[in-house]
Amino acid sequence: QLTQAVLTEAKKLQSSNAINKLVEDKALLLAKELDNNIDQNTLLYGIPYFAKDNFATKDIETTSSSNILKGYVPPFNATSITKLADNKAVLVGKAALDELGMGGVGLYSCNGVITNPADEKRLVGGSSSGSAYLVAKGIVPFATGSDTGDSIRKPASFNNIVGFKPSYGAISRYGLLPYSPSLDTVGFFTRNVTDMAIVCDATFGYDNKDATSHHNDSKDIYQNINDLDKNTKFGYIKKVIDDLTETTRKAYYEFFELLKSKGYVVEEVNFNQDLLNALSAIYKMISYSESVSTNSNLDGIKFGQRAEGADYVEIITNSRTQGFGNEVKQRFIVGALNLNKENQTVYLNKAKQVRRLIVQELKEVFAKTDILIIPPTDKVPPLISEMKIKTAPEKQYLDHILTLANFNGSPSITIPFIKEHKLGIGINLSAKPKNDLLCLQAAKM
Ligand code: GLN
Repeated sequence: QLTQAVLTEAKKLQSSNAINKLVEDKALLLAKELDNNIDQNTLLYGIPYFAKDNFATKDIETTSSSNILKGYVPPFNATSITKLADNKAVLVGKAALDELGMGGVGLYSCNGVITNPADEKRLVGGSSSGSAYLVAKGIVPFATGSDTGDSIRKPASFNNIVGFKPSYGAISRYGLLPYSPSLDTVGFFTRNVTDMAIVCDATFGYDNKDATSHHNDSKDIYQNINDLDKNTKFGYIKKVIDDLTETTRKAYYEFFELLKSKGYVVEEVNFNQDLLNALSAIYKMISYSESVSTNSNLDGIKFGQRAEGADYVEIITNSRTQGFGNEVKQRFIVGALNLNKENQTVYLNKAKQVRRLIVQELKEVFAKTDILIIPPTDKVPPLISEMKIKTAPEKQYLDHILTLANFNGSPSITIPFIKEHKLGIGINLSAKPKNDLLCLQAAKM
């Protein structure tokens, strides 16, 4: 009944473009099986969910919301999908995204624009747009997402829900269609932190199919979610908070007082402003370059819809010209330019060096503080008509502040914070890499 109810509600959302595919027959079949055989009870037993459409799902079309992958049916499951299946969660469908994970808006799926469920004139955020939409709408209690720059944590903020990017390597990336492999992280959207603990317990763990996955000490998160150490230290970068709009800034300083009144230490931490200002450029240099290399197999020959052409060069050119949207093409062009041999030395290698400096700076931050508090967004989700209006240059780093946690692989969670009418502004907490339990305990508290 639960699975049926979810499918019925989901079908009413056809015009939202949030869903790439429903897997009605498979979901109902599994739900029936589970009903007839309730012996292996897990916390996710029979719980319906959506997977972002860049997770490979066996025998189910997986497109990453790109025309080039229309009709691609993987012969295997992503490890995270297998683990959710082992826990008896029920996959009901695939959620749309900004094509190949490239974007933070919800406007770049090949199947059409997705808007904010609370106000359709506003951005839903992305790239995990459909997943955020479906959890915010209350269709499913959780959905998978992927986060390369902020693709889970920003839309969570825009939609008043919880979005968690675990430590890099905590959940296997095997079967996640890549955008930028050194930054891509599997994570989730939920309605609350306890549900997040449950899905993390089900999916964390080393996987020999992903060379970057690791053993994580954050076990039994659900059991320990309420046990935040009273001595946990919270930190914030004063300049970042002071650069916020007046209302948001005030809310942060009031929140710091609240934490102090509960007995926690809340302290300013230093962060080199030049490194913050470099965030956006470094992210683009690294992620665009990796995206070209990692997606070079989408050529109409190895993978993807094949276009007509007289020879293989023409086939590849036509397949890629017809198969990709403008945002992806722009990123590929910039990325390809960076990968040119001379440019690698002058630009890309420099970008990697600056990334190392940022990682070093974060090491120093987490030597002094346990939880770094950062604002995922300054304002409620912007109107689509105003999205081209640029943030003042000296504050532009705020747009990319969440990407800090992708550079060093920190666990990082956005939870609801300020509510303005039906819209929201989240708050983000990050911890030292592999301290996922601590990060979730702080969020729960
Ligand atoms: N907003 C970022 C971008 O446009 C994030 C994308 C992501 O995390 N996949 O690239």
